[in-house]
Amino acid sequence: MARPSLRLAGNAPGPFYVDSSCIDCGTCWQWDPDHFAPTGSSSQVSHQPVGAAETRRALEALQACPVAAIGAPRQVLAQTPADAFPALLTEHPAGAVHYCGWASRRSFGASSYLVVRAGGNVLIDSPRFNAQLARRIAALGGLAAIVLTHRDDVADHDRWAGHFGAPRWIHAADADAAPDAEHRVMGAAPVDLDADLRLIPTPGHTAGSMVALLGEQILFSGDHLWWNPAHRALVASRTFCWWDWPTQLASVERLADLDVRWLLPGHGGRHRFEAGGWATAIAATLAEAGRHGRS
Ligand code: SF4
Repeated sequence: MARPSLRLAGNAPGPFYVDSSCIDCGTCWQWDPDHFAPTGSSSQVSHQPVGAAETRRALEALQACPVAAIGAPRQVLAQTPADAFPALLTEHPAGAVHYCGWASRRSFGASSYLVVRAGGNVLIDSPRFNAQLARRIAALGGLAAIVLTHRDDVADHDRWAGHFGAPRWIHAADADAAPDAEHRVMGAAPVDLDADLRLIPTPGHTAGSMVALLGEQILFSGDHLWWNPAHRALVASRTFCWWDWPTQLASVERLADLDVRWLLPGHGGRHRFEAGGWATAIAATLAEAGRHGRS
């Protein structure tokens, strides 16, 4: 629980606050940029919510925070919605994509996603396990599979898999992070789970990083790529490359021919691309990497 005595000085005056237990994961301001903002070393309340709709959004950010670093008075907390997550992001013929909220400290607040679809729902990476979210996912049809994009974002995969009896997919090179996973992707060849969902190995950030492509247009990118809204740029991060940078750039090039319209990463910004925008963004990212040396 956040504590008023640890309230950060930069918070806007008012009922909501971020305290010093913030781990600077970005979950709150990515979900509610109208009320939360990064400071460079943590997040803070930039503007207090006004009215019921804004208060609900801020309470959703509070609920999603992986370390309970966001506080508010008890009478405000009592308004926390029970049905906030999974929250619909986009509907596509291949499935309805939801953000799961309930980020986990074990994955440093990584985003996870639920795809609701006729062929069986799929969880992409793992939110914090909790009964409230589990009831909501059950009401949406449960889980038929869990895809783990890489070793960092597995969080409570074992509890979700056990609760729903859902088999997990992870790349063999990262499989020690989920040793009981039922399926391992081997090597560099893409694997089609069905006609609408393809797993594409993209080693670099970690040896076993992979992305998941839904309906040819929605890319769940793990920590391989994300969107920087301030620079309006697609980012492959050398700073956060834990395994091999030249290999990561080769994995970025591998995605250049896709027609991505939604980028949904584990960390960093989500982004919707217009037609042709993906190819332009990938080319810019690779050019930027080239300017700084690729090895
Ligand atoms: S979600 Fe919580 S831990 Fe993450 S940046 Fe916001 S306040 Fe900090």
